[in-house]
Amino acid sequence: MSLATSSLTDLRVNEARLWDSLMTLARIGATPKGGVARLALTDLDRQGRDLVVGWAKALGLRVTVDQIGNIFMRREGLNPELPPVMTGSHIDTQPTGGKFDGNYGVLAGLEVVRTLNDHGIQTQAPIEVAVWTNEEGSRFVPVMMGSGVFAGAFSLAHAYAATDTEGKTVRDELAAIGYLGTEVPGQHPIGSYFEAHIEQGPVLEDAQVTIGVVQGVLGQRWFDCEVHGMEAHAGPTPMALRRDALQTATVLMQEVVAIAHRHAPHGRGTVGMVHVHPNSRNVIPGRVKFSIDFRNHTDASVEQMADEVREFARSLSTRTGMAINLQQVVSFTAQPFHPDCIQAVRDAAAMLGHSHMPVISGAGHDAVYAAQLAPAGMIFIPCKDGISHNEIEDALPEHIGAGCNVLLHAMLSRSGVALA
Ligand SMILES: [Zn+2]
Repeated sequence: MSLATSSLTDLRVNEARLWDSLMTLARIGATPKGGVARLALTDLDRQGRDLVVGWAKALGLRVTVDQIGNIFMRREGLNPELPPVMTGSHIDTQPTGGKFDGNYGVLAGLEVVRTLNDHGIQTQAPIEVAVWTNEEGSRFVPVMMGSGVFAGAFSLAHAYAATDTEGKTVRDELAAIGYLGTEVPGQHPIGSYFEAHIEQGPVLEDAQVTIGVVQGVLGQRWFDCEVHGMEAHAGPTPMALRRDALQTATVLMQEVVAIAHRHAPHGRGTVGMVHVHPNSRNVIPGRVKFSIDFRNHTDASVEQMADEVREFARSLSTRTGMAINLQQVVSFTAQPFHPDCIQAVRDAAAMLGHSHMPVISGAGHDAVYAAQLAPAGMIFIPCKDGISHNEIEDALPEHIGAGCNVLLHAMLSRSGVALA
């Protein structure tokens, strides 16, 4: 069919249909409080996958599954030689998860396909929708497992060997639910990648903005810190003669937060876990172990934060005479998204007349690994009170629709459309 450029810019997804599909998928693993518990590679995950794959087949998509269970649903382009413009996310959830985290990105992709089908639009490059395995990392570690194996961040063997609390392995559970595919992970070209996702934070709602144009994902450095003092009786030991590890540790904890404030606006510093030894009310703490989580938008800035806490710990140790051990245990590099994909998202939001602003993702996403293989970008929409990984996670239908329309037009700008 022939299609003028003007009617292409008028193209819109069916918001009600997208909402219905989200609510239908959310019934699989629904919790009494309105959330979803659909852990990776459980029978509920199988039911969710089967539903999504059934929808894809009804839309005429070709479905392939790789060896880590990633699902690719392909709508052929006029030029099948071109690498596909891909979108996707995950449908596994946390044990007390919501209806939108991940599920939105997958079903927004299917809604893009439904819209193209409705209007008989042919793209030059193929369009693909991906369902990545075990993004949440709740049942099996590491997180973002399917996209991580796909990008070569860790091996298939490493992922296969991961076990849940009952000792069941990823490989066996993939086979048990019928999603142990044959395609070699990563041997699947991507031309460019977009992922629509709820923000999972409060920035967009606070600013009353509909579309977050995601610039990148924060880099992370995690440390274990241990402060060594001396246990002693809380009564007989005068204040001047104490070596109170907890008092020294709290000075360092305050500095973690102060460092993050000095690295505004994207710096984050969190002490989330503390162990006090011997943890007795009338004993001066002799040893304190705690976690430090630093994040920032560039590797250089997060490394600077790490340097500052190391330097502070050194001088604090000298001042107090207590040994302080700082050990880095985890490092994720910051992942900026591709300028062309960021531009495509921004242009689509502007063309559609949606308020939009640049944002940075504080959480990891499958798009981080996709970005290591191809130009990538993300679209954020607000979620109620910024809450996610919670059964009360919620989003407005008009925001769901707006983000999907941005996804549609960003993808079309990268895929090319046959105009007659
Ligand atoms: Zn997610």
